[in-house]
Amino acid sequence: MDQLLDKFGRKISYLRLAVTDRCNFRCQYCMPAEGIQIVERSDLLTFKEMYRITRVLSELGVNKVRLTGGEPFVRKDFIKFLESLSYNKRLEQINITTNGALIGAHIAALEKMNINAVNLSIDSLKEEKFNTIVRRKSFREVRKVLDDLTASSIRLKLNIVTLSGVNTDEILDFVALTKHRDIAVRFIEEMPFNGKGLRATGELWDYDKIYHHISSHFQEIEKMNDGKSSTSHNFRVKGSKGTFGIIPAFTRTICGDCNRIRITATGLFKNCLFDQGVFNVRDFIRKGASDKDLKQLFINTVHHKPKNGFVAEKMRGTNIVSESMSTIGG
Ligand code: SAM
Ligand code: SF4
Repeated sequence: MDQLLDKFGRKISYLRLAVTDRCNFRCQYCMPAEGIQIVERSDLLTFKEMYRITRVLSELGVNKVRLTGGEPFVRKDFIKFLESLSYNKRLEQINITTNGALIGAHIAALEKMNINAVNLSIDSLKEEKFNTIVRRKSFREVRKVLDDLTASSIRLKLNIVTLSGVNTDEILDFVALTKHRDIAVRFIEEMPFNGKGLRATGELWDYDKIYHHISSHFQEIEKMNDGKSSTSHNFRVKGSKGTFGIIPAFTRTICGDCNRIRITATGLFKNCLFDQGVFNVRDFIRKGASDKDLKQLFINTVHHKPKNGFVAEKMRGTNIVSESMSTIGG
């Protein structure tokens, strides 16, 4: 079978697909409050195109897909799309990243489709603070979804963007949540993907600082076996049901085992979160590319995957990292 291999010998098996650039939240670290440019509907990949791209990639060894956005649940017929993907037996894992506001009514359907994991973004456990961060009054729905997903058969991971001076006082509360729940709480280093670029912060809450903060409060911490290509380094407070992890998204110490590619809602193929997109799959498909053409293009492109996120960022030249994460997918 043809495979997706880069010149450093890394095998690509994981696609992150943004199904829309639209979102019902306006998280402060992701988007400006107003004036975010959304693309024309006709510029978005159709679900049919996404299905085809995923099928072709699965024939090249991609066995895991994460649906993200924007907010995936704001796109009409997202559930139908998920169902169609679930029939692709080459996909061993279908996961979703969501802000949680609209997923509540669909949990039973997701369980039936064997969706493996949901990553729920929740940056505060306090109503007012949560609502201020996301600039919407949605705390109660999201908090309920946290409980409903915990009780479901779907594996639950929480994504917490570590915002210096905003929610860093809640890091220990999030870790405490893992005591009685079999969930994975993950702290993500804040990145400059917010529409403006690097934010000036009082203190730098990077991987080391987050870890030392937690380990100075919880005495016995066990290191988990992360598994190859994991995006987080994972731990368990001894005796707890769940785990906590830290994602060095900005310090980029995980690139050596990267197995990921990304496709944005407009079909831009990204070899790395930090590159500015390598080619547009949507245009290639709309010009009549065959499956064989697509496969060749994917194979050739992946070969040039940059060694790490710093190299990818450098290749952007003067175009600094500032696009909103909602246009890339997490
Ligand atoms: N809307 C969905 C959500 O929020 O879960 C999916 C898309 S969102 C872009 C994917 C992930 O990226 C979320 O966990 C979000 O917290 C994270 N994210 C967004 N902007 C970020 C930033 N500037 N730094 C670090 N993580 C960020
Ligand atoms: Fe929307 Fe997710 Fe970005 Fe928040 S992080 S604005 S929920 S895309």
